[in-house]
Amino acid sequence: MKGDDMKKGPGPIYFAGAGPGDPELVTLKTRRLLDEADLIVYAGSLVNPALLDGLEAEIHDSSSMDLDEITGLMASAWRAGKRVVRLHTGDPTIYGAVREQMDRLHALGIPCAIVPGVSSATAAAAAIGAELTVPGLSQTVILTRRAGRTPVPERESLSALAAHQATMCIFLSVSMIQETVDELLAGGYQEDTPAAVVEKATWPEERVIRGTLSDIAEKVKRAGIKKTAMILVGRAVDAKDAHASRLYDPSFSHGFRKGRKEALRQAGAGPEGPKSAEPAFGRHGRSRKLPEKTAILAITKQGKRLAAVLAGKLQGSHIVEANSGIKEAIERAWNRYDALVCIMAAGIVVRAVKDLCQDKGRDPAVVVVSQDGAFALPILSGHIGGANALAVRIAEITGGQAAITTASDVAGRTAIDLWMDRFGLKPGRKDLVAPVMKRLVEKGSLKVFSELSILPPLPEDLISCSSMDEADMIISWRSGLSLQSPGQKGSASEAEKACRLLLHPPVLYVGIGCNRQTPKEAIEECVRQAFKEAGLSMKSICRAASIDLKKDEEGLLQFCEEAGIELVFFSARELNRVPGIKGSKAVMRATGTRAVCEPAALLAAGEENARIIMEKRICRDVTVAAALACSPWWE
Ligand code: SAH
Repeated sequence: MKGDDMKKGPGPIYFAGAGPGDPELVTLKTRRLLDEADLIVYAGSLVNPALLDGLEAEIHDSSSMDLDEITGLMASAWRAGKRVVRLHTGDPTIYGAVREQMDRLHALGIPCAIVPGVSSATAAAAAIGAELTVPGLSQTVILTRRAGRTPVPERESLSALAAHQATMCIFLSVSMIQETVDELLAGGYQEDTPAAVVEKATWPEERVIRGTLSDIAEKVKRAGIKKTAMILVGRAVDAKDAHASRLYDPSFSHGFRKGRKEALRQAGAGPEGPKSAEPAFGRHGRSRKLPEKTAILAITKQGKRLAAVLAGKLQGSHIVEANSGIKEAIERAWNRYDALVCIMAAGIVVRAVKDLCQDKGRDPAVVVVSQDGAFALPILSGHIGGANALAVRIAEITGGQAAITTASDVAGRTAIDLWMDRFGLKPGRKDLVAPVMKRLVEKGSLKVFSELSILPPLPEDLISCSSMDEADMIISWRSGLSLQSPGQKGSASEAEKACRLLLHPPVLYVGIGCNRQTPKEAIEECVRQAFKEAGLSMKSICRAASIDLKKDEEGLLQFCEEAGIELVFFSARELNRVPGIKGSKAVMRATGTRAVCEPAALLAAGEENARIIMEKRICRDVTVAAALACSPWWE
């Protein structure tokens, strides 16, 4: 969004954050949008009306309107060329109910955009002067609520979340303070866990009640606080000076990945050879990760009733209306959602999606569900897309059965594609993943060899081995390994059967230097050539680095963006501090540092034991070097 987007025609309908109450706590952007708006619809119960003082816009309070009225009002104003702002309390993305409004508007072809705001969660933390993430106490903030009229998925119940002992900001729950506290205690918080309730944070009438889980409910009830209050819970909520932040503790290593040394030690990596860390991927490497955005489509009355039930239980799911035809609705949802749940006959879905399918890495997950909920059948993207996991979840909700057909799941074997995805391993050849998965189903287990001193966590049926020759899968940062079994002959399909799968872990760090205005193509060519000559795989690149003078070097930025490589920069001083680097006077004159690419690669790796694996290579305007660092990269 550019600053002047509103001036050129109506632009999108803006869902803007009004902040917690104090009219000074809105962004400059929201302030400008309000000043320029023709129609403002605000959430009357919590938005401070002082924000709207003196405005010329037509202003509506949405508290007495239903969804149809709100979206209808905004849609007709937008169509009349008016600039429309929907003003939500705090930050619109947190319990703002904006999704349903935007979906309606999108369905009408109206663009929407969200402008963030200061949430009452952080406003309440500010009111009590707390940092929510005090090192040593908690590094996680959970924003949540207790189930009320809106149900909360069972796995997110307060007692389930309490197990983390993290800092919690609990919205919409003060009217149920006793039950809230009971659930937190039942879940594992101690009675003496600090808690605070902030009513109407940042408003003139703000009130703060402090206590612990043993007395906060009583105090809140006595104060008569029943709404518009934030409950903050956790050790960080009352972090006294005694818990001095470890950030300021000189023994706490602050560098990029230095803290990993500890992890390395724990994983037992060392010169004595590969060791597998504790399996962290489930016995059979199956993932229960659900797609984030799910569209639910139904045709029949009974199907629509089931759709409503699923929409209430599946997180991030929305019902997509199919009034103008099911094929068209599926086409519309295809690129907008990560998963489609189609409550209808499988044949309808197969016909509708047959021309949309492109690539199993990109196509959304598709699950067909019978209208009585008895069967949930994943038909596309079972593994990477999460259709299998989604079908299992749907079956849990409906009490039906997930009809899983992927061989590895049926045989109870690890889905290798998911395991690779989870641990950042890229296949040398994509087309060998399926044959290797098939081999696992047939053989029951496969052998994995790693050229690194460590192995990612292995599920039961993937077994570490110490010789490359006997391995089915080889973890290596190198390219061009000869992976045919010794003496192998025969047809192409036999070769495929015997072929071993090369897996590239993200352990290489590439340092790049270049002259001004070097085109992307030249950089790409140089990196490619250098990696090829050095026998390194570009699929193992974890990060690229350069000197900060190159922060705006178009070609370099473009190369990294297109290759999907994170790019970081270091100053000349930082680069100069790296020991053991040969330098050149010309580079010193141009950049103020002796060398760029080698020290940048080492700094990007951020490991004390990182080493240069490819020394500086020069091709015309580009220099490139690579470092290898192989502490447990998946952590
Ligand atoms: N989008 C909002 C939350 C809306 S839900 C945000 O980001 O803040 C409404 C709930 O937010 C209330 O029940 C209360 O728990 C909390 N809330 C909103 N404004 C508040 C304020 N000024 N002080 C404390 N809590 C507030």
